[in-house]
Amino acid sequence: MNKRDLKKFKIALEKKRDSIVSTAKKAHWDNMEDTRHGDFVDQASDDNEVHVNLRLLQIDAKLLRAIEAAIDRIEKGNYGICTSCEQEIGLARLKAVPWTSVCIECKEKKSA
Ligand SMILES: [Zn+2]
Repeated sequence: MNKRDLKKFKIALEKKRDSIVSTAKKAHWDNMEDTRHGDFVDQASDDNEVHVNLRLLQIDAKLLRAIEAAIDRIEKGNYGICTSCEQEIGLARLKAVPWTSVCIECKEKKSA
């Protein structure tokens, strides 16, 4: 992969990382607000909301780790190489899922 593409992926990954971090922070503060000013009448729905937020945060945490690992691979110079079969990952796949660490063949084998 050429340096220009690599730089584009890095910028896209960092942007995505920043947006997850700021969303997570916002969700966290929203939860804090709920605990402090929670209306007991709406307790049940509040609990549900907190639960949904936490679930979202867990998904984001997983994605965040994948993004950070991808940025790390860019810095180490092995970005775009499948961690499973060590073949190059297709550019179209990287454009769709820039934080992926496996090629489409390995991904399909894994989920099969
Ligand atoms: Zn592979």
